Amino acid sequence: MTNVDLHCHSTVSDGLLAPRDLVRRAAANGAEVLALTDHDHLGGLADARDEAQALGIRFINGVEISVSWEGLTIHIVGLGIDAADIALSAGLASVRDGRDLRAQRMSESLAAIGIRGAYEGALRYVGNPALISRSHFARWLVEKRYARDVSNVFEHYLARGKPGYVEHAWCSLAQAVGWIHGAGGVAVVAHPGRYRMSGSERDRFFSAFRALGGEAVEVVAGAHDAAAVRDYAHIARKYGLAASRASDFHGPGESVVDVGRAAPLPPDLEPVWERLAA
Ligand code: AMP
Ligand code: MN
Ligand code: MN
Ligand code: MN
Repeated sequence: MTNVDLHCHSTVSDGLLAPRDLVRRAAANGAEVLALTDHDHLGGLADARDEAQALGIRFINGVEISVSWEGLTIHIVGLGIDAADIALSAGLASVRDGRDLRAQRMSESLAAIGIRGAYEGALRYVGNPALISRSHFARWLVEKRYARDVSNVFEHYLARGKPGYVEHAWCSLAQAVGWIHGAGGVAVVAHPGRYRMSGSERDRFFSAFRALGGEAVEVVAGAHDAAAVRDYAHIARKYGLAASRASDFHGPGESVVDVGRAAPLPPDLEPVWERLAA
């Protein structure tokens, strides 16, 4: 079976490797089809594509868009997008716009529990000034020994309801899907197993996504265990969605699943990459 990985991050968002290094690692791990999907930014695609071409692997343009839906943060991956599409770029710029102020507010909220200098600390981990994220805060908090690893930081400081968490309004589901379609891409629900949705919320969400013309769901994702894979295989069948296969790799030593090492899809599902032009 072809080795496919349609979700990973570079230093253009919150990954630890530069786009070319990420692609080299994917190739060394056996990836044959790869999409780079940085958060809310397309800046790594040109280098990644160039490197993939040199190494003989098929490259798909991608992006992971931050969405607010009924008070929850949801990530929608766009695959096969035209990186030169003006409306998509403008849309992503508007989504990124609030990140810096949000980061300052996160820092204030951490200062209120005695953790000072988090904004400046996080900035030292930022690869792209337009894209400060919770991951950058997490790395600094680990450096300062507030927690033993990144996932521990989220559990204690950065997840919803924790002292460093700040509510934020991203774009709407309709905007994200619309920008992706306008740029010729297909829309994929990222790592659905990570959202804290009740069964009825989940049904409403997937109905809304389908009604907007959303095409696919990550069935295999870095954050999914075997039970989640079965669950979202069922969702894919129920809603007539194609399936994606994703490591969501951020960096060596940080991510459980390496880039190019995502598990295969359940065989009866329609692979989303077959809908993408070669
Ligand atoms: P942001 O877009 O600034 O809200 O940051 C979201 C990023 O934080 C995600 O893309 C992940 O890389 C990371 N993240 C979120 N939750 C966790 C978690 N529980 N453990 C590790 N990383 C996480
Ligand atoms: Mn991330
Ligand atoms: Mn995500
Ligand atoms: Mn991701």
